[in-house]
Amino acid sequence: MKRWNGWGNVDTDYPVPPSALEYLTKVLGPLASTPDAAKEAILAAVPASRLPAHPLVDTTPEARLTHARGQSMRDWIDLRYGCLHTFPDGVAFARTDEDVRDLLKYSRQAGARVIPYGGGTSVVGHINPPQSDTPVLTLSLEKMTGLLDLDETSRLATFQAGVAGPQLEEKLKARGYTLGHFPQSFEYSTLGGWIATRSSGQQSYRYGKIEQLFAGGSMETPRGRLEMKPVPASAAGPDVREMVLGSEGRLGVITQAQVRVRRVPEAEAFFGVFFPSWEQGSDAVRAIVQNEIPVSMVRLSNPLETETTLVLSGKSWVGLADRGLRTIGYGDTRCLLVFGVTGSRRMFGRTRREAAALCRKHGGLFVGRVVGHTWEKNRFLAPYLRNTLWEHGVAIDTLETALPWSQVQAASLAIPQSIGEAMAKHNDRVLAFTHLSHVYRDGASVYTTYLFRRTADPDDLLARWQDMKHNASLIVQKYGGTISHQHGVGMDHAPYLLAEKGALGMDAIGAICNSFDPYGMMNPGKLFTN
Ligand SMILES: Cc1cc2nc3c(=O)[nH]c(=O)nc-3n(C[C@H](O)[C@H](O)[C@H](O)COP(=O)(O)OP(=O)(O)OC[C@H]3O[C@@H](n4cnc5c(N)ncnc54)[C@H](O)[C@@H]3O)c2cc1C
Repeated sequence: MKRWNGWGNVDTDYPVPPSALEYLTKVLGPLASTPDAAKEAILAAVPASRLPAHPLVDTTPEARLTHARGQSMRDWIDLRYGCLHTFPDGVAFARTDEDVRDLLKYSRQAGARVIPYGGGTSVVGHINPPQSDTPVLTLSLEKMTGLLDLDETSRLATFQAGVAGPQLEEKLKARGYTLGHFPQSFEYSTLGGWIATRSSGQQSYRYGKIEQLFAGGSMETPRGRLEMKPVPASAAGPDVREMVLGSEGRLGVITQAQVRVRRVPEAEAFFGVFFPSWEQGSDAVRAIVQNEIPVSMVRLSNPLETETTLVLSGKSWVGLADRGLRTIGYGDTRCLLVFGVTGSRRMFGRTRREAAALCRKHGGLFVGRVVGHTWEKNRFLAPYLRNTLWEHGVAIDTLETALPWSQVQAASLAIPQSIGEAMAKHNDRVLAFTHLSHVYRDGASVYTTYLFRRTADPDDLLARWQDMKHNASLIVQKYGGTISHQHGVGMDHAPYLLAEKGALGMDAIGAICNSFDPYGMMNPGKLFTN
């Protein structure tokens, strides 16, 4: 069963090792927790539904609460402190494209707004119901999970868009294929959600972002059905498929998607390399990508992330490894790189050797598979730390951008610094660190994680988080980065979109939304503020 006020399954836990709590107390100060709001009290406060009855629409408080929020920091504060003020009026569970079409018609007749809902894993406020004088229907695709077709000649798989990561990979694996899209939210996020938010999987370097994997499909819109034919490439004017990518539920409901699949790889492993400094590590990563070494992923942690990752792992070998690394010159400024090699057995050894050699050239110490294997084991488990840290009084959030290589160094320093400065105004501290992943020939995504103490007052906590997020967003703008490389816009990034797209660009986006949804009924307030 899914947690109603945290991340993931209730049966999965990720305990924080005592040594990590000691470390966090040293860095942040004494930790204190406050009890969570009781679910029963929140359920009792859910107002009466304003929707007319429909056989596919569930108006119970339980369904409405469990689809009211995603996974953003604002959502966590609402759920854990019990300060939810908006709920959908009902949650519809469609099974077919016809159901979706029928529900859009019903919503229009009822004057309702519609929020398409995939896995609810949004971290930027994509699926939150607005304060609205009209009813709000959340339209869940959780029952639309089928593999409809696998064209093995073209390597195209057609899925219903509500399929979540594990279901999708299981169905493909049974036929010897993989999509290779593994966001950290893989356990719950869905194909439709990935497309609607322009998601990125951890091995996007090999498999591509969802933009490269999404070949075509169908979308039910308030004005009718849109079909996107899966052609390999086209010069026939602007690409409508590109309009659907990142549409965040504002154009309609993606019901089916054709995705480009590959054979399951013969070999895969992840390796660790320590660098004496961030500059050497990032030069090595840039050299790997610019020399076109076909690794499947890279993740270079800055010194603070390297230290924190090792402490949070709670592994017994960390102390020993620390002392050993220091004696050979990998001290306080050391950075950890994890890189993956995935593909045929023929290319595996060669790629590993070439990547390791480039790392050595930049001062890297190749440490084999142990660290990489730990990363692999925890790759979808790490988000469970959010639950346990929160219960110990620590909130954790992330933000991310992508920039040209010429800006990566400066932005990687300035972003965590700006978060620290915002928190200093509240006379408190924050532990903020970054890593590079999702690398490209011309640049990289810079991903920042920040941990801070919870306060007893939810408004105070929200204000602290908003200040940190705002400061960091201004720095992202200053260095010419995008407001999001992979999480999307939602409500949290909407105020920063104008600076990125320009007035004319925003007009065009508004006109596209208006064209598919002239009634303004689809997911209002997301992507841009109305
Ligand atoms: C712990 C954690 C780790 C994460 N790691 C990553 C990561 O590695 N990479 C990454 O890219 N993101 C990551 N995310 C963010 C999130 O998982 C992605 O944005 C994901 O793509 C959302 O998918 P979803 O199915 O949960 O969509 P939802 O959260 O349900 O919805 C997101 C948006 O998409 C729209 N939408 C959903 N389905 C449809 C549909 N069928 N048709 C039309 N619109 C639709 C919704 O209306 C909404 O605007 C992470 C989130 C968490 C909580």
